[in-house]
Amino acid sequence: MNFKSQVAVITGGTRGIGKSIAEHFAKNGADIIVCGRNPQAAIEAAESLSSFGVKTIGLRLDVSNSQEVKETFEKIISEFKKIDILVNNAGITKDGLLMRMSEESWDSVLDINLKGCFLCTKAVIPEMARQRYGRIINITSVAGFMGNPGQANYSASKAGIVGFTKTVAREYASRGITVNAVAPGFIETAMTDVLNEKIKEEMKKLIPLGRFGKVEDIANAVLFLALPESGYITGQTIHVNGGMYM
Ligand code: NDP
Repeated sequence: MNFKSQVAVITGGTRGIGKSIAEHFAKNGADIIVCGRNPQAAIEAAESLSSFGVKTIGLRLDVSNSQEVKETFEKIISEFKKIDILVNNAGITKDGLLMRMSEESWDSVLDINLKGCFLCTKAVIPEMARQRYGRIINITSVAGFMGNPGQANYSASKAGIVGFTKTVAREYASRGITVNAVAPGFIETAMTDVLNEKIKEEMKKLIPLGRFGKVEDIANAVLFLALPESGYITGQTIHVNGGMYM
């Protein structure tokens, strides 16, 4: 895969799936902007990619803050002159059964996972439309398709991303912009580390391939959708879940 001279922005690129996506793009020649709420973590993640010989910067960005999103993307375009690829990866969970779920938990998950995706996409579209080329990849989840007890907020946000993806794909297809989603199953990261061993064993039984996914499994699907050669795929979701949901 060759992404030389392409510019990719990864939200939530400081660890887990986002960090792996950033590494895979850098390894394949793309210049990378790593964003995250923790500025030091963003800078360190970006610095760790410089050994691939590409241009990288790490920026603080809370994707749910519209002013911050606007200013950050203006800064990226002024420094890199363009954005070819946006990966809307930033996401959080705040689990709880519906009757115990606070309004604050609902709002913060929807604000980061779904509104963040809207704000960042809106910020890159004018530049991508101008250059008549763009690849937007949104990270949704198997929970958005199957539901998951304790995740009413999270699964709603991830199902919302799928509808959002299809609509933006239709709106901007004529400008050479494709918009797709990747739906991870259970991937080994900090987000899933917090689950107790019993739940993990129960979940493993639901996975035909018999193992949890690795961050690389998601990065590979994202890079495929970001290729110039994938330009006839838009509005789709690739499920990367070991067969957990078919
Ligand atoms: P992690 O918790 O390991 O990483 C989440 C990343 O998002 C961090 O870099 C974090 O950085 C960033 N982030 C969180 N909130 C914000 C915010 N408001 N603005 C900007 N960045 C933010 O999660 P994973 O790597 O596991 O998950 C990545 C994506 O994949 C998420 O969208 C998640 O929902 C999805 N996913 C994960 C699955 C899994 O099994 N792990 C399964 C299905 C989907 P910081 O804290 O510095 O802001």
